[in-house]
Amino acid sequence: ERLVGASAAGDDQAVEAALRPKDLHEFIGQEKVREQLDLMLRAARARGATADHVLLSGAPGLGKTTLSMIIAAEMEAPIRITSGPAIQHAGDLAAILSSLQEGEVLFLDEIHRMSRPAEEMLYMAMEDFRVDVIVGKGPGATAIPLELPPFTLVGATTRAGLLPPPLRDRFGFTAHMEFYEPAELQLVIDRSAHLLDVTIGADGSAEIAGRSRGTPRIANRLLRRVRDYAQVKADGVVTREIAAAALGVYEVDERGLDRLDRAVLEALLKLFGGGPVGLSTLSVAVGEERETVEEVAEPFLVREGLLARTPRGRVATPAAWAHLGLAPPQGRGS
Ligand code: ATP
Repeated sequence: ERLVGASAAGDDQAVEAALRPKDLHEFIGQEKVREQLDLMLRAARARGATADHVLLSGAPGLGKTTLSMIIAAEMEAPIRITSGPAIQHAGDLAAILSSLQEGEVLFLDEIHRMSRPAEEMLYMAMEDFRVDVIVGKGPGATAIPLELPPFTLVGATTRAGLLPPPLRDRFGFTAHMEFYEPAELQLVIDRSAHLLDVTIGADGSAEIAGRSRGTPRIANRLLRRVRDYAQVKADGVVTREIAAAALGVYEVDERGLDRLDRAVLEALLKLFGGGPVGLSTLSVAVGEERETVEEVAEPFLVREGLLARTPRGRVATPAAWAHLGLAPPQGRGS
């Protein structure tokens, strides 16, 4: 697992859980989403009703699971957590739905990866709080209707556009989570440092924030590595110098690029004069699989405005030359 990877794989679940904000006030950033959710939840509470179904879209590690837990906490409701890939048959979903308590929050991560039959069952469950359980096969099959208690579905997906419109339309509330600004990440880091009993200066948290790729999960992970370094190599206090030195050891640069990202950029600039160069050629040059370059390294480089994908191949931007401290060839860049 990459230190700057946004997925939770390899993370200590207990630590992640301990760092999760427990209510909307503790949740940092995402101003609009928070304000809208707050209104929606308050109104539902005042009516004594179950909250509308919520669809959260956004990149991994931005706080979708955390928000779903907060929704449950604010509604004083229990929460059940599952994911699209875990629901392969409609029967799997029927089993979950039929065991929900009234008002329970069902968090369905990666909802776009559910099987088709399960998805269709979900339409009816969301709309009418009812499912038809099919018993038997072929002409003798019968549908047995099953009433469900009202519940709140919180669906999470990387992109809302991945969902079929009929499913998307059944959510009463849709929110898109953006990447966090460095100042917001700094608040996340300060808060986590406090919970982990780490002494950190404002310059230390700013240094980590700048390298966290707009993602709270990465910010928390980098903080833990920096804490280790501060304990072993210094007096435990995280300053800007300590944070920079620690993340230097892990090859995470000032902008959050890691060894792989830099290898891709370096090949593009030094071997191909900044491109355009085809993805396959670029991948061979860095000794990685095509998919690794395309899916692991490129999205962040594109987002940072360091690399562009064009019909003729990959091209470095002027910012890429500047970031690696190289001069673009005459007549290109600026
Ligand atoms: P995935 O899609 O990979 O499941 P996610 O979007 O559900 O990711 P979470 O698991 O909710 O992300 O958040 C990852 C970590 O980041 C959590 O440990 C949480 O503490 C922290 N975090 C996320 N958002 C915030 C926030 N707004 N304020 C403070 N901490 C946050």
